[in-house]
Amino acid sequence: MIKRRDLLRTLGTIPVLGAAAPLAAGPSKSQVATRDYFKELGVRSYINAAGTYTALTASLMPQEARDAWNYASNQYVALDDLQDRVGARIAELLQCEAATVTAGAASAITLGTAGVLTGLDSKKAVQIPNDMTGLKTEVILQKSHRVGYDHAIRNTGVSIVEVESRQDLENAISDKTAMLWFLNAHNFKGQIRDEEFVRIAKRHGIPCMNDCAADVPPVENLWKYTKMGFDLVCFSGGKGIRGPQSAGLLLGKKEYIEAARLSAPPRGNTVGRGMKVNKEEILCMLVALEVYLSRDHDADWKLWEYQVDHISDAAASVAGVETEIHVPDVANHVPSLRIRWNSDSLGITPNEARQRLREGHPSIETVGGAESLDVTTWMMNEGEERIVAQRIKEVLTQS
Ligand SMILES: *Cc1c(COP(=O)(O)O)cnc(C)c1O
Repeated sequence: MIKRRDLLRTLGTIPVLGAAAPLAAGPSKSQVATRDYFKELGVRSYINAAGTYTALTASLMPQEARDAWNYASNQYVALDDLQDRVGARIAELLQCEAATVTAGAASAITLGTAGVLTGLDSKKAVQIPNDMTGLKTEVILQKSHRVGYDHAIRNTGVSIVEVESRQDLENAISDKTAMLWFLNAHNFKGQIRDEEFVRIAKRHGIPCMNDCAADVPPVENLWKYTKMGFDLVCFSGGKGIRGPQSAGLLLGKKEYIEAARLSAPPRGNTVGRGMKVNKEEILCMLVALEVYLSRDHDADWKLWEYQVDHISDAAASVAGVETEIHVPDVANHVPSLRIRWNSDSLGITPNEARQRLREGHPSIETVGGAESLDVTTWMMNEGEERIVAQRIKEVLTQS
């Protein structure tokens, strides 16, 4: 243990930044502004023409949320108090019974599942995932909804039961069934659609959860699915809402949200202990949500359309290049550009074009597979569409 005397001695060896600088304030603003941390570290930053991808750090928070981060980082509060109040405020804003801030949508899935399993029995929260004595052990989902996020469900100790038809689902439900889970983005890919899924869950008295992680816009989705009857609904905080990348929302019935919190920090001996959300993230999540709700969503949409058109026109001005603008049905529901060409005649493949955009100055991240170069503009700063348009045209012509 560090003795106070040693601590003071250590502090004494830290260079003083300025005679008037308060002890805990850290470097002054101007010193921070002059440091280019990512450059110092040799980490590349880029124009995000890809979208809300976790590997690309997804989204940038609005100024109000960044200010809230600074505000919260300067004072202590009790973690549970802050979660209680922020949760209540979010529930009010999103017209649901209850809400809590989690460490991302994946964490919302784990904590929500844990809550359904344990109810308000904190002994059971200590039991999972290794000792399922006295607990239900299965979560049912449609096969077409299994896209790689089900580990978040299995973290609680349950196993997954896959079904395809309505009849499969009815047959699979048993006294082991803890929950029915739905992937909103694949609503149209499964045989059972959202409303029917809820009806079946209700008829059997089994809680159901909807993973809507990437499903704003439209903004109405933030209340549509709790109102539809899903007991729990999850959103990523750092995708369309532009909150902290490591935060998320768990919305729904009060009994399940309260139960989910039994597995969340500060409670230690639980599956959720490694899913801490700090006070800065909790506050920023609320502020980012407020900012998102107050935006002019029609104006945002028009801007994205304009930006995508602008890039599309530039790309299509190159002979042999075809562009297509589409809007995905559910997740990432924003104007999206697909650029295709014959690799032989242009002498460059989409993968090579993506690489060249990445290695250029400024660096630009795009997505797509071997067949196309894909772009969205909703995670760009305004004006960057001009740079992206110009660079794509250059890359397609100068090969
Ligand atoms: C992004 C995503 C998640 C994970 O969200 P995080 O907020 O990064 O934890 C879960 N489910 C779906 C469908 C997603 O798109």
